[in-house]
Amino acid sequence: MLERVLTDLVQIRELGLEKVNDNMEFHRRLASRPHGMEPLQRIADEVARQIDCLACANCCRRALPPVTRRDMARLARHFGMTAREVREKYTCPDDESPKRRVLRTRYDSGCVFLSGNLCVAYSVRPKACSDFPRIHRPAPGAPVSRLCRWTSLCPIVYNAVEQCKEATGFGL
Ligand code: SF4
Ligand code: SF4
Repeated sequence: MLERVLTDLVQIRELGLEKVNDNMEFHRRLASRPHGMEPLQRIADEVARQIDCLACANCCRRALPPVTRRDMARLARHFGMTAREVREKYTCPDDESPKRRVLRTRYDSGCVFLSGNLCVAYSVRPKACSDFPRIHRPAPGAPVSRLCRWTSLCPIVYNAVEQCKEATGFGL
């Protein structure tokens, strides 16, 4: 069933923040059940078909994707640089976990690889980028608060969570 999806990023940010406690409770409930995430996955896949990521690019403006050594090696091969040069030029320490590296961002335009709404490193982007929004596959132990941050950032996550809440009768 096709439902109208909300794509206005300002509204999604406001509503996502407004609903953060509800959404944390909802995610906890889903995550605590075997197969709990499956309905969310199905709905997210359907929502994703209705949303044009090229018209959005909000994750590339606002998220801080982690960059692994393997990601750096791939980027280095692509750009004809050493992995060390990629590390220094395109990544910085993650404030939340200083041993990890995340992509550098520019103050006004997000990820260092973002040009307009296009990724200039698309074919070799970090795995965290190609996996996003992986609503159905949160990393093992991923804090619920992180999933809820995506709810106020990504139209796919926001709409999928709202439709899944409705489908499962959450909050009634
Ligand atoms: S590397 Fe590409 S896909 Fe990943 S955040 Fe940057 S612009 Fe977006
Ligand atoms: S994954 Fe979500 S935030 Fe990123 S471009 Fe697509 S809809 Fe926008």
